[in-house]
Amino acid sequence: MSKSNSSLLKISHSRKQLSLLILLLIYGPVLMAQQKIVSQYEDPGSAYENRVIDLLHLEASVEPDTITGGVAGLAVYTFNPLRPYTDTITMYAPGIHPEYVKINNKNARFTLSGQTLIITGFPASISANNNLLEIKYKSSGPYEPYFVGWDDPTRRMRRQIWAHRPSGWIPFINDRLTVDLTITFSSKYLVYSNGERISVTQNQDGTSSWHYRMAHPHPFFSTALVIGKYAWKEMKTTSGIPLEYWYYPDMEDHFEPTYRYSTEMFDFLEKELDVSYPWELYRQAPVADYLYGAMETTTATIFGDYMAIDERGWWGRNYVNVNVHELTHQWFGNYIAHQPGSDVWLTESLATYYAKLFEKSIFGNDYYEKERLSEQKKAFTQAEQDDYPLAHSRAGSFRWYQKGSLVLDMLRDEMGDSLFRKAMTHYLKKFAFAEASSHDFIKAFYEVTGLPLDWFFDQWLFRGGEPHFEVSFTARPDYTELTVRQIQPATPTTGPFRATTTVVAGYTDGSTSSHRITLSGKDSTFRLANKKRLPVSYVIFDSGNRLLKKLTFNRAFDQLAAAATGATLTIDRYEALTAMRSFTPAVKRKALLAAASKSENELIYTEVLSQLGLDKDPGSSSLFTGALRHPDALIRRAAIENYTLTNPGDTAHIFHLLSDPDYINTELALRKLCAFMPEKAGFWLATTAGETGWRGRNIRMAWLEIAVRSGESNRIDELKDFASPSFDFETRINAIKALQNLGFLDPSHAVNLVKAYHHWNPKLSRPAWDAISIYAATEKNRVLIEKAFDQEGLTLPQFKN
Ligand SMILES: [Zn+2]
Repeated sequence: MSKSNSSLLKISHSRKQLSLLILLLIYGPVLMAQQKIVSQYEDPGSAYENRVIDLLHLEASVEPDTITGGVAGLAVYTFNPLRPYTDTITMYAPGIHPEYVKINNKNARFTLSGQTLIITGFPASISANNNLLEIKYKSSGPYEPYFVGWDDPTRRMRRQIWAHRPSGWIPFINDRLTVDLTITFSSKYLVYSNGERISVTQNQDGTSSWHYRMAHPHPFFSTALVIGKYAWKEMKTTSGIPLEYWYYPDMEDHFEPTYRYSTEMFDFLEKELDVSYPWELYRQAPVADYLYGAMETTTATIFGDYMAIDERGWWGRNYVNVNVHELTHQWFGNYIAHQPGSDVWLTESLATYYAKLFEKSIFGNDYYEKERLSEQKKAFTQAEQDDYPLAHSRAGSFRWYQKGSLVLDMLRDEMGDSLFRKAMTHYLKKFAFAEASSHDFIKAFYEVTGLPLDWFFDQWLFRGGEPHFEVSFTARPDYTELTVRQIQPATPTTGPFRATTTVVAGYTDGSTSSHRITLSGKDSTFRLANKKRLPVSYVIFDSGNRLLKKLTFNRAFDQLAAAATGATLTIDRYEALTAMRSFTPAVKRKALLAAASKSENELIYTEVLSQLGLDKDPGSSSLFTGALRHPDALIRRAAIENYTLTNPGDTAHIFHLLSDPDYINTELALRKLCAFMPEKAGFWLATTAGETGWRGRNIRMAWLEIAVRSGESNRIDELKDFASPSFDFETRINAIKALQNLGFLDPSHAVNLVKAYHHWNPKLSRPAWDAISIYAATEKNRVLIEKAFDQEGLTLPQFKN
């Protein structure tokens, strides 16, 4: 799956909650025991589940009911007992109420305990193979599937039913199985699920039955259901895989930008992995009010419809990364599945990693470097919370996704391209249509390369922490002495890191020398040969930024300036620029402008603009004037974000952004102009009156908020409407925030806030609760909120003081 930015799990655990498993390894059979103590995190989430039966096949029919918000279902499982005396089967069945349970056509006893269905009372006829377990049931929610829009009496919200897991609508046991699933619903809607669509049968009562088949055993949890008003287009990959990409018929102009590069992704992954796409076909559908970015159920990905973009949304956020991430899961996640929570990284790190490589192949190396910087930032954000290892069930999203992706970069650097690819192909083929663990992965890598990489996996998978290098250098006549200290805090699970990296020395004549060094202990010193005995102008540690690390490297400004313009790699120049942040514009202006003029690179430009935003020197001003009209939307965005308006004449430099091809730039320009000269807001509002924007109607929301502030109080009704259940969650959030900024609350908006708070999607309920908490700080508003909770038949939760 892919988390969208706003929904990332923030997992934090107190150190006190941790317990350390102390293993005593005794060395030396004869001598007095010389003991080495190795500490590791204990992880209850690394346990395998208790499996009583082996599910082979599921034949199910379900009929969603928009009145009850549940389904009526019949599920027949074919299974083999795994042990001779199977007498209890437990299934995960939240919200499911069985009418009967039969085993081999004879009634079995069952009870519900919380979310678990416990089946006992087995007939004597259980055989070693191909038993039938039949369950007829109804479900009642509030679990999956989610019913979207059916509560909107105005019928403006899209009506959909979707699920990205079987939980709540099919009794579940985690296993791999083949499936025949038939879904019956009103013929006015299309129905989407996994695998081949065998038939669509029109029934007498105005419904249609859609029969889907998964002919290869796939992870049962990886099951989807989507019902809605859709159309689809069919395409084929170069290798002949049929693609079926769904879209909203009223948004056909969004189809191409949304699914851009989709077939290229197949070509890239099949070539890179050297394993063909493992399933018969692939399809995708957007869904409304989705919980995450997307979910890769087998052969059928579903994604948040907010990621369906038109051309103007491309650089706001396009779907390429998530699209290829989910596609990668068809190999890592569905073809090979992990089981215990400690092995999540095997699915998520690999998907994040290959998505990044695909983007590099399309958007180039600088884009890839920018992505890696973002991954590093997230990995360190997680590191501020705790130091769980990557292969741990509590590692958290930023580790499973971003840190893991960086660890794979480092693994590939360590092994070299060809061995890495060979090992990955072997791993995929070895565990095809099966489950694999972290140790299976390591063993597969060893089997075909013979490389003993235990130290690498131990350091980056099973132990927490990241290195922090403190670097200094002294230039001697014929060499440069480099000192590297590892200053990360020592913990029971983390020692000094081992790493091989590149150090580059730059000389006053413009030449450079490159040196590979291997770090191991706490302190290391290296002599970098300087055969021509040239004066050193800068040193770059970890050239290419390949290591996940913190770096303390105090350099004189002249050395930074020389690196920022002289280093060969963009990422090295960028690193030198970021090290200038604490210097004043007067000191660094010349060097920053030189760095920007040397390259039109977005990474460099953005950094320079962020450091010169308050500088009104003519050189900086002309940099901004150019950047505000730069053809690259992201450079224009960095310029508008950092630009400081100081006199009325400056508004002329950003006025053209009110009709920028990028929706975000338009919103930023509108807000900036109107905040600077509110008395001219009417003119800028008139210029942008026809703009809606993209996700959450971003431009219209800014527009309405500014209009109300400018005295058009009648506009408040439009904002209030947008906060109602007739709109998607992002529009509701934006409207809620705008009204909150305006300090507005009346009885009907209070009800909309409570409805948003009560929504099943935490992406909406959380900001709604934040707004409620702030409103409730004043007595008058608190009364309105309490009345709204009453009116909705809900209890107002306790406020945190
Ligand atoms: Zn994923």
